[in-house]
Amino acid sequence: MVEDKPIDFTTLLQMTTETIALAFKRTERILASHSKIGCSVSGGADSDIMLDMLYRLDKDKKVEYYYIDTGLEMQATKDHIEFLKKKYGIEIKTIKPKVPIPLAVKKYGVPFMSKDVSRFVGTMQNHNFGFGENEKVKTIRARMWWNNESGGMFNVDTKPFLKEYMIDNPPNYAISEKCCFYAKKQPAHEIEKNYDLVCIGLRKGEGGVRASKKSCFEECGKGADKHYPVFWFLEADKKAYCNYFGVTHSRAYTEYGFKRTGCAGCPFNSKFDKDLEVLRKHEPKLAKAAENIFGDSYEYSRGYKKFRFDMKHKNQMRLFESEGEK
Ligand code: SF4
Repeated sequence: MVEDKPIDFTTLLQMTTETIALAFKRTERILASHSKIGCSVSGGADSDIMLDMLYRLDKDKKVEYYYIDTGLEMQATKDHIEFLKKKYGIEIKTIKPKVPIPLAVKKYGVPFMSKDVSRFVGTMQNHNFGFGENEKVKTIRARMWWNNESGGMFNVDTKPFLKEYMIDNPPNYAISEKCCFYAKKQPAHEIEKNYDLVCIGLRKGEGGVRASKKSCFEECGKGADKHYPVFWFLEADKKAYCNYFGVTHSRAYTEYGFKRTGCAGCPFNSKFDKDLEVLRKHEPKLAKAAENIFGDSYEYSRGYKKFRFDMKHKNQMRLFESEGEK
């Protein structure tokens, strides 16, 4: 049951935080100016708060809720979606991608390290690059990355010793970033066509690509506008919100101890080994599935971490030795 609470600006200011009070005001205005509204529910903590806020503001029941099941979701997340349906008495439609993660990985390749690294390496592999020291990369952007000509973050050397590692250990499996496209982006893009506004539980404080966004609202000429109701929330706002409105999170947080949810064991997470340890304890079948799907990438990433550690150590020793000779 959802406890009814006053959500007027003054009460929210007194009982919660200014960020929350402003988010309610802004979201109310944005909902009022759109008629077909979709809300992407992920089962994560930020999404929980967003859903609660929309539910309280959506007096005309204009909002439709959906959840994209990528094909590698925790049981904890699936159970939480069921809990949310009952708690709010709403329908949350499950969207299944045409190409879920296991199939995308099988067809196109395994993600490795990050989206950009996977994209560049995948392109190089598709053009039969053998990772030889003096070999030329055939495509422009991948060549610029490999030769450190892109400037800023799109150079291979932003990942210490990665190039040396790949030359010494050419990957013997296909690498690709495409599972994100097929399992997440494509289905999201498809369903967003049904709406003139889509709400997403994205928070600037989460970092990554989100941090580069400037506003909680994006007007999109052709497609649905985007609104991120919890965009400006900090941890203290989240806590204040949950306390006041009685929002609870999935057991992935409360029992497993995850700080964030998402695709189980994704190799883009540099701490995937820790995640796997937790999954083995709480969701052993899923841990096994992740190992089957991403195993090549786990092994290759562990090899890189060891290589990087050894190289750093070697360089330090060389430095000490040359200091000693002075
Ligand atoms: S987050 Fe990772 S596992 Fe999930 S779709 Fe993207 S690359 Fe694949």
